[in-house]
Amino acid sequence: MVERTLAIIKPDAVERRHVGSIISRIEAAGFQIRAMRRMALSKQDAEGFYAVHKARPFFGSLTSFMSSGPVVVLVLEAPDAIRTWRTLMGATDPAKADAGTLRKEFAESIERNATHGSDAPETAAYEIGYFFAGVELS
Ligand code: ATP
Ligand code: MG
Repeated sequence: MVERTLAIIKPDAVERRHVGSIISRIEAAGFQIRAMRRMALSKQDAEGFYAVHKARPFFGSLTSFMSSGPVVVLVLEAPDAIRTWRTLMGATDPAKADAGTLRKEFAESIERNATHGSDAPETAAYEIGYFFAGVELS
């Protein structure tokens, strides 16, 4: 089933100029980029985005990191996009990520881990709507 997911190239990867490499990998993996924007999240923007994690001990640190510099947000489309993108990203902790995954290659730590991907159809719908209006998706 053709599906859409929300991807973020996180501040660590933007700062280290990995945006082009990561977008190349996205396209090589067969995704269509349906929307894309570079933007700076405020702390409040990051807190709203990661609201599901607000009880976690790393919430404050995570939202400070996500608002520490610009990010690139993308809507990716492919068959089974949510699972396919998470497989390409690799495990949350780069030390546990498989060879060939983006996090193995580009992440610095479990927090500064280069990319984000939605984890289910409901979260993908919420996250896409958080950043993009319908008219921006084509
Ligand atoms: P994401 O939602 O960003 O795609 P994920 O689904 O692999 O990542 P989550 O459990 O949803 O992982 O955690 C969200 C983000 O919070 C992680 O990507 C990472 O940046 C940060 N994070 C997760 N676990 C930890 C931790 N133990 N310590 C510090 N930061 C963490
Ligand atoms: Mg997650």
